[in-house]
Amino acid sequence: MPVFLGRALICLVSMLFLGFGLGMSVHKGTSILWSLGFLGTLGLVVFLMARWQVRPLSEPLGQLLGGTRPRSIEELPRAWSALERENDDLKERAAREDRLLPGIMARLEEGVLLFGPSGNLEQFNPAAQRHLGLGAPLAKGMGVGEVFRDQVGQDAIQQAFRGTSCEWRLARAGRTLRVRAIPFAPLGSVSGVLLTLDDVTNQEALETTRQKFISNVSHELKTPVTAIRIAAENLQEERLEESAQASAQSIMRSVDRLTLLLGDLSELSRIESGALHLAPVCFDLAGFLESLMRDLQPRAAACEVELALKVDAPEGTKLLADPLRLHQVLENLLSNALKFSPVGGQVELAVRVNSQGQVWEVRDQGPGIPEAEQGRIFERFYRAQAAKAKPGTGLGLAIVKHLCRLMGGEVAVESRPSEGATFRVILPPQPEATPQDPAGPPSR
Ligand code: ADP
Repeated sequence: MPVFLGRALICLVSMLFLGFGLGMSVHKGTSILWSLGFLGTLGLVVFLMARWQVRPLSEPLGQLLGGTRPRSIEELPRAWSALERENDDLKERAAREDRLLPGIMARLEEGVLLFGPSGNLEQFNPAAQRHLGLGAPLAKGMGVGEVFRDQVGQDAIQQAFRGTSCEWRLARAGRTLRVRAIPFAPLGSVSGVLLTLDDVTNQEALETTRQKFISNVSHELKTPVTAIRIAAENLQEERLEESAQASAQSIMRSVDRLTLLLGDLSELSRIESGALHLAPVCFDLAGFLESLMRDLQPRAAACEVELALKVDAPEGTKLLADPLRLHQVLENLLSNALKFSPVGGQVELAVRVNSQGQVWEVRDQGPGIPEAEQGRIFERFYRAQAAKAKPGTGLGLAIVKHLCRLMGGEVAVESRPSEGATFRVILPPQPEATPQDPAGPPSR
C-alpha cells in the first residue's frame, strides 16, 4: 500500500506541474524557464513509468537468471539474451539425459520394467527380457497379465498400483528371480509401477548349502557332546583332587554352553529352511500365562528380579496360535530381560488382546541397548559389545524374529541407554476362536 500511495502522489504532483506548465505556456506565451520545467517533469514521468513497467518483469527474470535482476528497460535485451542462453543449456542437458537414460538401462544387470497408469508396459531394458526368458518376448503395450501369468505377481503389482511396495520370488527359465514392485510416483501421485528383477539363483543355492551345513554340523555334534557330558559327569562322581575336580566342572560348563549353542543352531536352521511348521490350536490365555510365569519364576528368583504381569484382555480370552512357539518367543525375551536386569529390578510382561491384534511387551530396567546396535541385535550371532560378559549365543533374537514372522507378526525393540529395553511383539488379529481348548497350557 505505501508503494501504491507513493506512485499516486508522484503522478498527482507531475500532472499538476504539467497541467500548470501547459496552462501557463498557452496563456502567457512560452518562457524558457517554464519550457525547461515542463521538459524536466516530462522526463521524470517517462523515467518513472519505464521503471514501473520493468518492475513486474524484473523479479521473475531475476529468479530465472539466478539473481541478476534487470533494473531498467535498457537492461531487458541483455536479460533476454541471458534467458535464451539458459534455455539452450537446458535443452542440451535434456537431450543429453535423453541419450544417457537408454544407455544406462541397456547396461544394467538388473532387469527394469515400467507399467504405466493404464497397466500397460511402457519401458523395459534388455536385462528384463533376458531374466524373463527370451522365449516370451516383451513388447510395449503388453498388459500385466501377459508379462506375469502367476497370480502372486499380478496381486503384488496391483498392490504397488495402490501405493505399497512388495517383493516376491519368481521361477523363470530355470532361474529364481527376486521381483520388486515399487509405486512409480515422480509427480506425487502413483502414475505407474516400476519393477526390478534380480537373478538370485546362486544366492539361494548358497543359502541352502549354508543351512544344510549348519543343520548337519549341529546334528552331528550332538552325539559327541553328549558323550563328553556323560564322561564329565562320571568324572565329577569320582574322588578327584581339587584341581581335577575344577577341570571336570570347567568341562561341564563348556558342554552346557555347547549344548545351548547346538540347540539354538539346529532350531534356527529348521526355521530358516522352512522345515518348522506351526501347529495352531485354540487355548486359554490365562492358563498359557500361568504356565509361562511358572516356568520363568525360578530364573527370576535366581537373578533376584521381580517378575510382573499386566493383562489387558477380556475375561476368558482364547487365543488361536501355536502355544509352544509363542511360549518360546516370550521365554526368550523374558530370559534376556532377566539376564540384563540389575539385582532388585523388575521385569514386566504386558499383553493386550483386542480386535486389532495381540501386543506382547517385555520391559526391563537393565542397561538398555545403544541405538546404533538396535538394528543389529536380531541378526544371528550378533551380541552387543556390553553383553559379551553375559552368557549367550547371539541366536535367541534371530529365532524370535523368525518365529514372529512365521506367526504373521513382527518384533521390535525400543530402548535408551541406561533406561532399560522394551521388546514388542505384534501379532495379527485372531480369526474367530473356537470354544474348545484341546491343548491346555503349553509344555515344552
Ligand atoms: P544372547 O544369547 O547373546 O542373549 P540374543 O540374540 O538373545 O543373544 O540377543 C542378542 C543381543 O541383544 C544380546 O547379546 C544383547 O547384546 C542384546 N540384548 C537382548 N536383549 C537385551 C536386553 N533385554 N537388554 C539389553 N540388551 C539386550
